[in-house]
Amino acid sequence: MSILVLAEHDGQKIKISTLQAIGAAKQMGSPVHLLIVGNQIREVVADAQSLENVDKVLVAEASRFNHLLAEDVAPLVAMIATDYQALVAAHTSFARDVLPRTAALLDVAMISDVLEIHSPKTFSRPIYAGNLVAMVQSEESIQVLTIRGNRFSPVNNSDSHIAVIEAIDIPDLPINTIWISEDKQASDRPALSTAKVVVSGGRSLGSKEQFESTLGPLAANLGAAIGATRAAVDSGYASNESQVGQTGTQVAPDLYIALGISGSIQHTAGMKDSKVIVAVNLDPDALIFQVADYGLVADLFDVVPQLNNALAKN
Ligand SMILES: Cc1cc2nc3c(=O)[nH]c(=O)nc-3n(C[C@H](O)[C@H](O)[C@H](O)COP(=O)(O)OP(=O)(O)OC[C@H]3O[C@@H](n4cnc5c(N)ncnc54)[C@H](O)[C@@H]3O)c2cc1C
Repeated sequence: MSILVLAEHDGQKIKISTLQAIGAAKQMGSPVHLLIVGNQIREVVADAQSLENVDKVLVAEASRFNHLLAEDVAPLVAMIATDYQALVAAHTSFARDVLPRTAALLDVAMISDVLEIHSPKTFSRPIYAGNLVAMVQSEESIQVLTIRGNRFSPVNNSDSHIAVIEAIDIPDLPINTIWISEDKQASDRPALSTAKVVVSGGRSLGSKEQFESTLGPLAANLGAAIGATRAAVDSGYASNESQVGQTGTQVAPDLYIALGISGSIQHTAGMKDSKVIVAVNLDPDALIFQVADYGLVADLFDVVPQLNNALAKN
């Protein structure tokens, strides 16, 4: 049997998180089919067709998929997934919305945030906010998995590879939820989940204005994405999608700069895989220093302008 990967795209290209999910799926040793759901997705399909290790591209194109809603996508995915041994997607907010619903419709248990694939039925995943890694074996008829993207190499496009395309007949499923509007922050900054450098701030930034005016120039100087703690998000200083941690985005950049962040396990669960961690905190006993490679006991409002000046000179 084959493995079905649920694709995420931006209307033109397949997202890197999906390329990593395909990389994970190929480790299970079966042919990989990629399911693309959307409307007017010709360019996405052309991009997908030349991806290494993708044997077939399934295209579910309809105007109802102009804006993808989990309530609408999950029944379709569940219908298609019954022909597969596994359904795989990246551990993104989209898949974390769609796949649990799909698993419920299929009446199977789901394994989320897979770190390692040992065999088609045996996986490692984090438990207790990332403090332990459990190896689990699933005997479900269909494995439903979200995978931690940065643990797997993305597949590439190849000039010599063309996958078969198959159009899916969209069933006449009822639509109980409709898309009305969305509030998106336009930003030139790199995406948080894939950025090489992340500058993160906590509650100590004090206000939305201070959060942006302190972290914004530093992020611009470093070409970094901006992250935040849940306390900063809950206080309204930063947007929901910038939350790093157990219930936010998991990041593993080359450099993570934690400014005024206490270092609770719920936060470190999302960033402790970063290659180099730099922390600035007033409190010498702050937990963040336990995971930091470089720690500075100082006021971030003194340190950040100095750092910006130094970067500007160079
Ligand atoms: C179920 C659950 C899930 C959660 N999920 C997440 C999650 O995904 N991500 C997440 O981040 N949190 C999460 N939390 C919340 C988490 O437990 C912490 O409350 C939160 O991370 C603390 O954020 P903080 O470090 O910004 O704030 P605080 O804990 O208030 O720490 C502020 C820090 O800033 C320092 N500081 C103050 N002023 C300055 C200054 N001028 N210069 C330098 N340092 C200064 C202080 O010494 C302190 O260490 C979750 C909690 C629960 C219960």
